[in-house]
Amino acid sequence: MKRIIFVIVAGFFLSSCNYIYPDKKSKSKYVLVIHGGAGTILKENLTLEKEQQYINKLEEALLAGGEVLKTGGTSLDAVTEAIIIMENSPLFNAGKGAVFTEEGINEMDASIMDGRTSSAGAVAGVHTVKNPILAARTVMEKSDHVLLIGDGADEFARKQGLDIVDSSYFFTHDRWKSFEKVRSRHINEMEKHGTVGAVALDLHGDLAAGTSTGGMTYKMKGRVGDSPIIGAGTYADNNTCAVSATGHGEYFIRNVVAYDIAALMKYTRVSVKEAANFVVLSKLKKIGGDGGIIAVDKSGNFTMTFNTAGMYRGVITSEGLMDIKIFGDH
Ligand code: ASP
Repeated sequence: MKRIIFVIVAGFFLSSCNYIYPDKKSKSKYVLVIHGGAGTILKENLTLEKEQQYINKLEEALLAGGEVLKTGGTSLDAVTEAIIIMENSPLFNAGKGAVFTEEGINEMDASIMDGRTSSAGAVAGVHTVKNPILAARTVMEKSDHVLLIGDGADEFARKQGLDIVDSSYFFTHDRWKSFEKVRSRHINEMEKHGTVGAVALDLHGDLAAGTSTGGMTYKMKGRVGDSPIIGAGTYADNNTCAVSATGHGEYFIRNVVAYDIAALMKYTRVSVKEAANFVVLSKLKKIGGDGGIIAVDKSGNFTMTFNTAGMYRGVITSEGLMDIKIFGDH
């Protein structure tokens, strides 16, 4: 009798907890979703020329990452590739074009996570490594640590042979203008954000997520946002989903947003879209946590969910879907 009860109880748990026996990986499709920041992005504030520049750059990042996935490359490589393209563009608040701290300098944050192994790497407050996402990846792959900060992180990147630039490389006139506007308190929400991120599912069934940012305009020296915090701005787990966030970092850290979405899926079996809707549109929205997330699950379902007016975003899949959007028509 005891044996029968044990079998029934064990059966119940095994059928209701998908984190004990993960479903089979999806091995026939790939998906790459990217974002270039969320905020008060309104059509009337963007010239047609600027809009087209954003679309072109998002497309370039999607095609480059998509090519990696199509040819059997890893989700980690696709995420890295897509983010590098956005970091190298002055359009986004990451790498070249990063926003300024209240002291008028750039302090950048980035992180990456491998959903297959749960390994992760991150850097915060870097100011000389050309591509902070590569520094984060190098921390993951070449050190025993997860997060390195400031000079230590820059020095590690240099020793590992990554491209190091003079801090003037990151300067753009547009960001400086935003800095001056915020300094004089003519704050425009749109100019505070612009982080980049990517999530991917590869043909091997593996998930990865990455995020890179200059943080928020006029942030305090030494302030670190959610982007380099594993579980807040970035998270990936092959059993559930990969998430990259953008928005008001303090809210995303306090609410452990990226992990919260994955945990909801893990413990309650809701879909990636339902989990994201609950966390971003309900929980965060209620407390004033502006922003959004992109996420893809182990079966290739994806979502681009935001509670702001717009979010630069796009997706490419093995099924031939290629979609790029900026404004809020969801
Ligand atoms: N989440 C970033 C931060 O708080 C900013 C952003 O996504 O725009 O540093």
